[in-house]
Amino acid sequence: NATVQVTVKGMETINPRKNLTIIKAHISDASSSGVAIWYNQKYLKKQLNSGVELLITGKVNFRYGFKEIDVSEHEILTGKKSIHTGRIVPFYPSTEGLSQKFWRDLQHQVLTKKVEEVQEIFSASERQEYRLLPIKEALTGVHFPPDNNILEKARYRLIFEEFYLLQLALAFIRKFSASRSKGIVHTKNKNLTQKFIKSLPFSLTRAQERIINEVCQDMESPQVMERLIQGDVGSGKTVIAAWALLKAVEGGYQGILMAPTEILAAQHYETLKTWFEPLGIKTVLLTGSKSSRQKERIYEELEKNRVDVIIGTQALIQEKVKYADVGVIIIDEQHRFGVKQRGLLEEKGINPDVLVMSATPIPRTLAMTLYGDLDISVLDELPPGRKIVKTYCIGEPLRKRLYTFLQKQIQQGTQVYVVCPLVEESEKLDLENVISLSEKIKKEFSVHKVGLLHGRMKAVEKEEVMEAFKNNEIKILVTTTVIEVGVNVPNATIMVIENAERFGLAQLHQLRGRVGRGSDQSYCILITSTKKSLALKRLKLMTKVQDGFKLAEEDLKLRGPGEFFGMRQHGLPEFKIGDIVQDAPILLKARKLAEKILKEDFNLEHPEHQNLKNQIEIMIDRLVKY
Ligand code: ADP
Ligand code: MG
Repeated sequence: NATVQVTVKGMETINPRKNLTIIKAHISDASSSGVAIWYNQKYLKKQLNSGVELLITGKVNFRYGFKEIDVSEHEILTGKKSIHTGRIVPFYPSTEGLSQKFWRDLQHQVLTKKVEEVQEIFSASERQEYRLLPIKEALTGVHFPPDNNILEKARYRLIFEEFYLLQLALAFIRKFSASRSKGIVHTKNKNLTQKFIKSLPFSLTRAQERIINEVCQDMESPQVMERLIQGDVGSGKTVIAAWALLKAVEGGYQGILMAPTEILAAQHYETLKTWFEPLGIKTVLLTGSKSSRQKERIYEELEKNRVDVIIGTQALIQEKVKYADVGVIIIDEQHRFGVKQRGLLEEKGINPDVLVMSATPIPRTLAMTLYGDLDISVLDELPPGRKIVKTYCIGEPLRKRLYTFLQKQIQQGTQVYVVCPLVEESEKLDLENVISLSEKIKKEFSVHKVGLLHGRMKAVEKEEVMEAFKNNEIKILVTTTVIEVGVNVPNATIMVIENAERFGLAQLHQLRGRVGRGSDQSYCILITSTKKSLALKRLKLMTKVQDGFKLAEEDLKLRGPGEFFGMRQHGLPEFKIGDIVQDAPILLKARKLAEKILKEDFNLEHPEHQNLKNQIEIMIDRLVKY
């Protein structure tokens, strides 16, 4: 493609068939000559007189030794400065039948007529400190920049503004959420919680201690706790959850722990029961698969406050369960918990403290934006003695050797997960896949018991399989990603992942986190046949990087946030101009200013903040609508 300024030397019209008119103008400039071609634009016949000066843009071809340009845009030069050619021109998303020229003219008119009315939200000194163009210049500059420098500055200002408003809007949603100041003030007694810590077979890591302290302050304050704990797989989040539950129980409240799957809920129940029973704490498991009679009985006990801790799936807050007095709700492994869902919790009429725990290693910058309205604690230390999970990426030719290795390891007493590929569009294909793979593995390892686990099985069946795996009866567990989150079987030390290229890095890391939970050396083996270089790059990263947060940063860079885990699921609108990965440094700067403003004039009562207040309201509207 090229844009050239030329003089028309002559013109001819051709009609090769009905409904097709071709206009050919002979053109030249100081260095060369050629032909410019338009299709079906008869009106040009009158305009392209000899001597007319033109700016044309289009694809250049060499046909029969002549230069030809298929003109996509042109402008007859009259000496006036153009908005369409001979400059940096904007391109707008459009639809059939609406030309870029149309959009450009429209935008240009809107800007000329309306830009004076756009309100500035930054003061002169803020603009100076953060190097921000005035809004009028930014808007004009981003649509019709005189040069690249202004274009960059204009974009910068608009991205900054978008992130700034987002941070402020999230802060307001948090601070003004009705319940925020009327939360429960939990008891300062530490009897139960201290007994619990002493009863553990290990001492807490410093990171665990630090975060328990933060949770403690939240819970003893009259504000409702809304805290996110981020910790890599195996960092020991469950202990913190248990601590918070006991804190609530100590003061006579009930504690709820919600997990995303029944397997995980059941597993938490097992763990917490062994910790809590010696302390005289009554713990129950409530999941959809209990019989209605069992449920009825549990409901009754709950309402009569004979139960201290309730563990279950998300159905816990959705079902018509009545609690006596909920003091804290903990949501485990739940990264799809946006502004809206938290609103739903508040509508329940209870004002419990809320703790969200996520093992999905969300990079700091992203977390700040996604959860800008939550307080964040990062559990950045693994319990001592953890070994690196040796990770290898292999192709089909090495499968035989892998199986020999597995045989040996199983004979030495270990257990193995084999995770089946995802088939994105079809749950049915997933099922066929995992079943046929388990058949193959059964043949290959005929002396060992092979188990099968997938999402379509009944909860009871799943529990049975997990139980047998935990008891070391099943040696190889062939499974779909139902195993992904939180499952804890320390004797399983090998994770084999088929078609590894089909998983995201965060997911692979989650899966890898299922092993390396005991003191033995663990392995993660990624099998792939892909030749795609991006996919191989990502898998290679897995073999080199153990830290989930680093992996997530890299994954985010390679794939962009949309792919990383659909933005929309987080209750955030898509950004108009900001890119949360590329523009992360701007996000940080915008946050700094947002914090300063909140400190100085929290309610934005100062008259100079009126425009800002209006813009924040618009942003809050955008957030809440999602
Ligand atoms: P996650 O953060 O992935 O939920 P868990 O809470 O399941 O991790 O903890 C993983 C394992 O580490 C569990 O077996 C747990 O008992 C153990 N663990 C937790 N904290 C410590 C600690 N401070 N020292 C030693 N082991 C710990
Ligand atoms: Mg966990």
